[in-house]
Amino acid sequence: MKETDIFILGGGLSGVAAAVGAARAGAKVLLAERAFVLGGTATLSLVTPMQTFHAPGRRVIGGVAQEMIERLKSRGATPGHLPDPVGFAASVTPVDPDALKIFLSEWLSSEGVEVALGFRLREVRATATRIESVVVEDRQGGLLEVKAKCYVDASGNGDLATAAGCDMEIDDNCQPMTLIFIMDRVDAAGIIEYQKSHSGEFYMNKDISVLDHGYIGVAGFFPQVDKARAEGRLNIMRDRLLFFGTGRSAEVAVNTTRVTGYNALHGEQLSAAVREGLRQVDELVRFMKDEIPGFNWARLVRVADHIGVRETRRLKGRYVMNENDVVACEGFADVVAKGAFPMDIHRADSAGLESRMIEGKGYYDIPLRSLLGIQVENLVTVGRCISVTHEGFSSTRVMPTCMAVGHAGGVAAALRAARGKDFEDLTRDIQETLRSQDALVYDGDTKFDKP
Ligand SMILES: Cc1cc2nc3c(=O)[nH]c(=O)nc-3n(C[C@H](O)[C@H](O)[C@H](O)COP(=O)(O)OP(=O)(O)OC[C@H]3O[C@@H](n4cnc5c(N)ncnc54)[C@H](O)[C@@H]3O)c2cc1C
Repeated sequence: MKETDIFILGGGLSGVAAAVGAARAGAKVLLAERAFVLGGTATLSLVTPMQTFHAPGRRVIGGVAQEMIERLKSRGATPGHLPDPVGFAASVTPVDPDALKIFLSEWLSSEGVEVALGFRLREVRATATRIESVVVEDRQGGLLEVKAKCYVDASGNGDLATAAGCDMEIDDNCQPMTLIFIMDRVDAAGIIEYQKSHSGEFYMNKDISVLDHGYIGVAGFFPQVDKARAEGRLNIMRDRLLFFGTGRSAEVAVNTTRVTGYNALHGEQLSAAVREGLRQVDELVRFMKDEIPGFNWARLVRVADHIGVRETRRLKGRYVMNENDVVACEGFADVVAKGAFPMDIHRADSAGLESRMIEGKGYYDIPLRSLLGIQVENLVTVGRCISVTHEGFSSTRVMPTCMAVGHAGGVAAALRAARGKDFEDLTRDIQETLRSQDALVYDGDTKFDKP
């Protein structure tokens, strides 16, 4: 049995941001993570680049997320924010996944956060309105009961909120899973030259000079993919190749497999999804080496340890953010974070993508109420599992936004633990504490910072 102020389930980027925010707001924090590394999807599933910290012409994500990038940059683990070669987001931020693992581990230690790696949720002891304690279990069946004043669900799948009895939602058409892999010895300069001379084969930035920065990001090779699919060499429900530079020279992370029809919350189905992902990786590597310019000498160097799960359960909270809130740049008095990524739905039932750009000023508010459940008074959700519709989620799901929301959830939990009031009665203090930690909360906080 341990006692603490804040218990966080999940050590992905949203859980880490929550832990740092809560610790800096004066709370004693314990974070449990079932894997043996921090970073979640960003490290275990090799997702890169982070996109996006910016709306057109201005940065909208600050706080611990921005601090992380600055500190990683000083270690050479990211080149920082770059213009998006694909032209979909206002900026992209590639991060070396291995350097990220090391950094996150050191960061939480230096902030005084207690981290229990290799522990998964076993049980939640709760009344109808509050969590009394949680029990986590290590791989040998060793149990640890943690009694906290406030709890944060950063598990992505909403495991803690579900076990505590919150209303949750899962869409019939969850976005597909993707097993990301890395290839090196890629002729990035050659591919960029090919993009410039065959722009019709790509979805790419209208400002072609962006490609001169040398950072590679590709959404396309549509004709080659079309032909290979028609002739049976590529059996993947995807109309394009999508890959980005990892930030390491001559190396790209390929985000192209599309695994549909499996339930990511069901063990046997998830195993089958990984097998299908591996089949697709094998097929794609051969196809790219044989048929895609710049890949003749390339080789597969790494397949992600975990298949990337885009979407599962989400909280049905005090406010459910919707598509209109995102696209029409809705403002909320209880704003705690901002997002600027366009709606981006990888279709589960076709080869394409469905997207909608954010209108007007190009960024929107995320309200505190979308982090809060209706039934359970001492729980806050962050990251993937906040209260948002399937459509709205297709924007809020990205890493910078998950970190900004995590930061907000951590601060909210710390203030609630210290003062014992309902979260909503603490709205103003949560906003001000976030601002004192350099988070960009109000529109006026948005600092000009061209990507
Ligand atoms: C294929 C793919 C491509 C993507 N592309 C991009 C992109 O290009 N740019 C971008 O910014 N975003 C992208 N995203 C989205 C983004 O990566 C994720 O939505 C984001 O990282 C989620 O962060 P999180 O902290 O909420 O959850 P996660 O990263 O899922 O972290 C949750 C953590 O909780 C742990 N956990 C879960 N359940 C338990 C439990 N019961 N007990 C203990 N621990 C538990 C997990 O092991 C994990 O470490 C992509 C996602 C995928 C899957």
